[in-house]
Amino acid sequence: MSTYPDLHLFINGEWRKTVDDRPVLNPATEKEIGRLPHAEKSDLDDALESAEKGFRVWSKTAPVERANVLLKAAALMRERQEEIATAITAEHGKPLGQARLEVIRGCEFLEWDAGEATRTYGRVIPSAPGVRYVVHHQPIGTVAAFSPWNFPMSQPCRKVAGAIASGCSIILKAAEETPAGALHIARALHDAGLPPGVLSLVFGSPAEISDHLIRQDQVRLVAFTGSTEVGRHLTTLASEHMTPVLMELGGHAPVIVCEDTDIDAAANTGAIRKMRNAGQVCTSPTRFFVHESIFEEYAEKFVRRASATIVGNGLDPGVEMGPLANERRPEALAALVEDARKCGAEVRTGGNRIGSRGYFFEPTVLVNVPDSARVMQEEPFGPLAIINPIASLDDGIARANAVPFGLAAYGFTNRADYADRMAERIEAGNVSINTLEASLPETPFGGVKSSGYGREGGSEGILNYMTVKNISHSLSIT
Ligand code: NAD
Repeated sequence: MSTYPDLHLFINGEWRKTVDDRPVLNPATEKEIGRLPHAEKSDLDDALESAEKGFRVWSKTAPVERANVLLKAAALMRERQEEIATAITAEHGKPLGQARLEVIRGCEFLEWDAGEATRTYGRVIPSAPGVRYVVHHQPIGTVAAFSPWNFPMSQPCRKVAGAIASGCSIILKAAEETPAGALHIARALHDAGLPPGVLSLVFGSPAEISDHLIRQDQVRLVAFTGSTEVGRHLTTLASEHMTPVLMELGGHAPVIVCEDTDIDAAANTGAIRKMRNAGQVCTSPTRFFVHESIFEEYAEKFVRRASATIVGNGLDPGVEMGPLANERRPEALAALVEDARKCGAEVRTGGNRIGSRGYFFEPTVLVNVPDSARVMQEEPFGPLAIINPIASLDDGIARANAVPFGLAAYGFTNRADYADRMAERIEAGNVSINTLEASLPETPFGGVKSSGYGREGGSEGILNYMTVKNISHSLSIT
């Protein structure tokens, strides 16, 4: 079994240590598994300078050559899948099988955007004879990107893929709790021949790094995935410099279960999917609104499957759910459960931290949760499901829309008219019917309302990293 990687910053094509290094913990054991160098201002300034140089080279590199570097890096990451997955499980806690899938998903993001690099077509606009209007897409410049800890590899891959495919340079600050995924991305791209400065990887104090980078004129896009609160702060900062942002923020996904659906299948898939990544997914299904005629049967089956989830160290065979990723999460979840209980919710299963070593939390199902409970508005970001009855589909849609978030939403029905109504009226960037899969590399992913703006993936994703230039060319002087 591979060991955890030696952690570094990656600046100007070189690996770098710093005097200030901090521990990285395994959330299943709370033991130190590595030490992470934290960047100083001078490291950030070096990254900015090398990003400028990298951009000058990379923006002039043919799209097909950019694509080849991305494809080569993805192939290397596929070869290194086991080594990377083991490191992700060690730092994040998720079961090894889920970490392996995450590595593949990260590769797919690189592969998809490699294809998109060669398809950033412009337009020719018909006009008066003798005049041509041509629309070009050009890389926006240096990107400052911030990725979170819930998917240590696939989250940074999304941003790195978009930036590199489009011809940008990118300074990535990945999550300090889970640095190995991003480190492996940098390693693979370096080995694949990415020129120095096109990608820099830094770690440190998130607030200090974002504050310093976003204030620099050469940073032309701020891309962030994380909480709405931090996203709002970074957007405000960027707006002072008129810097555009790409914001993938919180969700609080509703699941509407209609009376005509297959109850067994919907309850089973709901409970399994809820516990994936210990619920630490921005698209995690959380607010289950179930038609009152099937409510009790659905809740019972859901609870049975949820409480049977095998919880343990992600490296152990058969484990379905690991610990939460950091110490903040069990505390936050316990507080939400306690508040819901006080408001009158019924805790059908779970609700407590497991043991005293590691950040384990029980799979938790709350039913009949009143709207006054905090958890009805706040994203739990953990293995917690809410199941409430609804009188009709319209009632379910109204409740689905009754939060400030609009990232992913789900519906279960066999009726075409119900499916259409949900697709039309639910306020979310992604609506899925009869599946709890919200996004793939080839589909545009992002939110509405407080879930942010901009899209990652699909043919839309790469355009965030590009500007539109209109060229007017008159064949004679007018
Ligand atoms: P948090 O709000 O402190 O941090 C969220 C992420 O933003 C982390 O990766 C953190 O390193 C980063 N961050 C924090 N302050 C920053 C700053 N000033 N500049 C740049 N980056 C900064 O909270 P947390 O305890 O890590 O997570 C709590 C909540 O965040 C969760 O409940 C969830 O709602 C949200 N979250 C969402 C996602 C997602 O995929 N959308 C991922 C992780 C966390």
